[in-house]
Amino acid sequence: MKYDVIVVGAGLAGLTVAYKLALKKKKVLLLDKERFVGGRTSSFNDKQMNVEAGFHRHIGYYKELPKLLKEVNVNLNDIIMWEMDSEIRIGKNKKFYMGIAPFYAPYTFLKSIIGNNDYLNIKDKLSLSKFFILGFIDYKIHPKKLDEYSILAYAKKHKVTTNTINYIIKPLSTGIFFLPCESYSAKLFFGLFYPALFSLPKLRVGAYKGGMSEVLAKPILNEFIKYNGKVMLNTKVESLVTKDKQVVGIELDNKKKIYAKNIVLATDIFNTKKIISSLKDSKFKNTILRIPTTSAISVQIELSKPLMKKDRVTFTPNSDIASFTEESHSTFKDSKGRVSIILANPDKFLKNNDDEIFKIVCSSLLKLGLDIKDLVLDYRVIRHEHKFYNLAFNNDKYRPHQKTKIKGLVLAGDYTRQKFYATMEGAVISGLNAVKIVEDNL
Ligand SMILES: Cc1cc2nc3c(=O)[nH]c(=O)nc-3n(C[C@H](O)[C@H](O)[C@H](O)COP(=O)(O)OP(=O)(O)OC[C@H]3O[C@@H](n4cnc5c(N)ncnc54)[C@H](O)[C@@H]3O)c2cc1C
Repeated sequence: MKYDVIVVGAGLAGLTVAYKLALKKKKVLLLDKERFVGGRTSSFNDKQMNVEAGFHRHIGYYKELPKLLKEVNVNLNDIIMWEMDSEIRIGKNKKFYMGIAPFYAPYTFLKSIIGNNDYLNIKDKLSLSKFFILGFIDYKIHPKKLDEYSILAYAKKHKVTTNTINYIIKPLSTGIFFLPCESYSAKLFFGLFYPALFSLPKLRVGAYKGGMSEVLAKPILNEFIKYNGKVMLNTKVESLVTKDKQVVGIELDNKKKIYAKNIVLATDIFNTKKIISSLKDSKFKNTILRIPTTSAISVQIELSKPLMKKDRVTFTPNSDIASFTEESHSTFKDSKGRVSIILANPDKFLKNNDDEIFKIVCSSLLKLGLDIKDLVLDYRVIRHEHKFYNLAFNNDKYRPHQKTKIKGLVLAGDYTRQKFYATMEGAVISGLNAVKIVEDNL
């Protein structure tokens, strides 16, 4: 057998597995169906326009992703433009700011707590503090129980004020994971903030200074190749090859079979389901097939001048837009103006064509006081149909471990079980877990 391991999928999870195993002198083949690496953290050219999977924020308390980047000679501060606050935009001329970096920008942080009184009074602020304190306690003590609540149900249970729900909880919920607060699991919501409690000095978020394939994915890929890793892009895996109930290889869409002692399936959940459906083991197959999924849609608009002075994340409650940001000062420095938008409730828009989605976005921006009509040079709609497991309440139990019951098969990816849910950090952690399992198998 030529390879110790075949890694299917060159997103952050697959790249982590491939690089770490190559470093340990294993013979590794990494495959991806796309012509570029990075998966949902990629940047690429789409019909003459440079685009990305969707704007991403690096959270200062991520540990494993920065460690990995350091190993492949990437200095975090060289690739990140840190932001000190986020905007909440409720409508025309109705907006306020939230400090997000208590140690790096204490004045901005305190100002947003003491100020913003037109939107949140003392009672609202106290109810928000209570909501977070009780949420963190429940996350630690009764995580399973907490997963039975949506964020909204949990907020109502603890009598969080209407202002706080409308101006803080709603925009954070759709802004962080595109899901409305009546669906988003309270466990997963608090779980994302919980690590911040122990890393408060590191708390801040940052935009990437460059396309994510360039600044994140390619440096890992290059190091993998340096350690004799083999890569095949534009190569789609159709199914798994089995022998005596073991997975022994993969079959490509051109029917070619490649064999290895271990297969790490580091594909997104939508494609994992497709590949797994070729397996005969119905128990394992059914476990994977029943994982509930959801989508993401990003709209990226090239403009003749910046829409906003600063590149900072803006969250919007009660809008078809979950969040948006100007990117001409950070990720797309060659653009005169570039706004990247993430839709709220994306599954609702899957049937709409690109023109319809663009019109929806323009009218939503207009309601927020932002008229882009005379500024638009070009736009693209980037769809990630069913590529996320659904972070709604009561779904956490469906997430599988990286170790499977099928010999020769290991899973990796942001949907597999680890504490950082659907994030870049989670993808890397899942990859590190998969590495340990493969090493044990070998
Ligand atoms: C719009 C948007 C905004 C986001 N914002 C943030 C953020 O701010 N912060 C954050 O931490 N995370 C964010 N995320 C989440 C983050 O991007 C993902 O959690 C992470 O990239 C998942 O990595 P992965 O390796 O698990 O999966 P993926 O990146 O999806 O990688 C899977 C790979 O498998 C390949 N593949 C699939 N099927 C096949 C096949 N049959 N054969 C060969 N290859 C195949 C795909 O091409 C892909 O490259 C965001 C995601 C999106 C879409």
